[in-house]
Amino acid sequence: MVTLERKVLEKNDRIALEIRRELRERRVLALNFVSSPGAGKTTLLERIIQDLSPELTIQVIEGDQATDRDAQRIRSAGARAVQVNTGAGCHLDASMVARAIEELDPPGGALLAIENVGNLVCPALFDLGEVCKVLVLSVTEGDDKPAKYPHIVRASQLLVLNKIDLLPYVLFDTDRCIELAGKVNPRIQSLRVSATRGDGLADLYRWLRAQAAHPECERSS
Ligand code: MG
Ligand code: ZN
Repeated sequence: MVTLERKVLEKNDRIALEIRRELRERRVLALNFVSSPGAGKTTLLERIIQDLSPELTIQVIEGDQATDRDAQRIRSAGARAVQVNTGAGCHLDASMVARAIEELDPPGGALLAIENVGNLVCPALFDLGEVCKVLVLSVTEGDDKPAKYPHIVRASQLLVLNKIDLLPYVLFDTDRCIELAGKVNPRIQSLRVSATRGDGLADLYRWLRAQAAHPECERSS
């Protein structure tokens, strides 16, 4: 079982390496958005598309077990999107992303946002050829999540703490959450945002523009 798992991951890593090389040549910035279900990945992407297009060409690969609801939302926001349904699967793998890239054919300078299946466990293991993983947590979850799911924190370069507009109604210590993430991964950067109200988005866009300018951001995994 362990050998089989290793073979699956080795095959995935080979394809991911190929994707990373091709996207670098094409000057396409791929970001892998990971979170639990309901942390607000799609809402965040809708907002990014509305605010940054056409300055930045944005395309989205949507991963969900079923339906194309999120791809439809992304298209309504104004970006091209391909929906990947994983069926019983609980994460995207590099071969799914390779097929979606073929379909999207992103132009040079584009931001390719990959919205992974909502899951904090195996997306940490599957390299999709992205430059960075962006971990989205929300204040309606537990503020100790970074300690409970350290692998995904270690694999990520940016923590976006979303839904801070709800802080008056929930018991969530943002400092504690960010401190726990820093203990697991001292190099992770953190931003506090509300994708619906707009708090902190200027900082997120500054980060995105910096990545678009220098897409070889160091991978910490
Ligand atoms: Mg979604
Ligand atoms: Zn999985």
